[in-house]
Amino acid sequence: MNLPRPHLHSLIFEVTQDCNHACNYCYNVWRGPQTTPYPRGQLDTARTLELLGKALVETRCFHVTLTGGEPLLRPDLLQIIEFLQQRRVQVTLISNGHLLDETMALALVERGVGLFELPLLSHRREVHDALSGVQGAWDAVLAAMANVRLLHGQVIAAFVATRQNIEHIYETVRLAFAFGARGVMFNRFNPGGRGREHLAELLPTVDEVRVALVAAEAAAAEFGIPISCSIPIQPCLIDLDRYPHLSFGFCAAVTVPTLPSTPWGTCALAITAILFWVTFSKPPLRNFWLRSAWSISSQLRHLPAQHVHGAWSARVGVKLLRRSAMAS
Ligand code: SF4
Repeated sequence: MNLPRPHLHSLIFEVTQDCNHACNYCYNVWRGPQTTPYPRGQLDTARTLELLGKALVETRCFHVTLTGGEPLLRPDLLQIIEFLQQRRVQVTLISNGHLLDETMALALVERGVGLFELPLLSHRREVHDALSGVQGAWDAVLAAMANVRLLHGQVIAAFVATRQNIEHIYETVRLAFAFGARGVMFNRFNPGGRGREHLAELLPTVDEVRVALVAAEAAAAEFGIPISCSIPIQPCLIDLDRYPHLSFGFCAAVTVPTLPSTPWGTCALAITAILFWVTFSKPPLRNFWLRSAWSISSQLRHLPAQHVHGAWSARVGVKLLRRSAMAS
């Protein structure tokens, strides 16, 4: 079957693995226990721009999310954003906000950064700081939100729901609303990276998530602020229809054409997880994962295997994905 070259909805680029926070929930794989060696490092400026330019041309993508680590630690970040601005690419920045002072906010807004995704983990300073592993993180992120909003920039507040803060969702949404956030992301704790070392203290129970969703539903209705649950919440455990003011997503990498890229230019995808679900789930869930497998494999078949980083050999993974999708 001949498929057209994919049109990517979004490209997610991890510009650096460095970070000035030490969040105990951080799911970045390079921050976790190194059971298997994970590549470190990043491309220099010239090679980063070359990679981005090539990716934009080959994927016809006009939206790039810059993330990390902490992107503001990268000295050439403004240069990268200017490069994207010249190509009329929309830019979203995911940051912990610690370095987003007035000067930096102005520089970013002037260069066309359209959306800032900043963490807001609690309405209580000590809880946010404890989860971030840094004193002053809460004050810094609220200042960052104010700096961006004063320049009429757009902010999304990201709430990572752990056992330490899940009861704070209503008050946190209220605080985000007061600071002019355009929306809130309710991200249930996603065990990975460093978070794997803190499962007992961080992983909420199903009932705790259910109660928090009721509070989030009430906050969304009261403040008229969109709340999205972008980390999948399993519909077999929680009836998502009970929360009409919340939106629920599945992994962006499998629902819309999106590719995450590491700082050295490889693609990081949860191939193993998708294959597992294709193999072991039953309809109608299996049909969802089959469609995901087809979508992912259609994107990856245009990439050389050495440019794909995964737990499995990328070449074997892509072949299996396509075989699974075609066989049904
Ligand atoms: S979650 Fe983000 S801000 Fe926190 S340690 Fe990880 S990369 Fe840094």
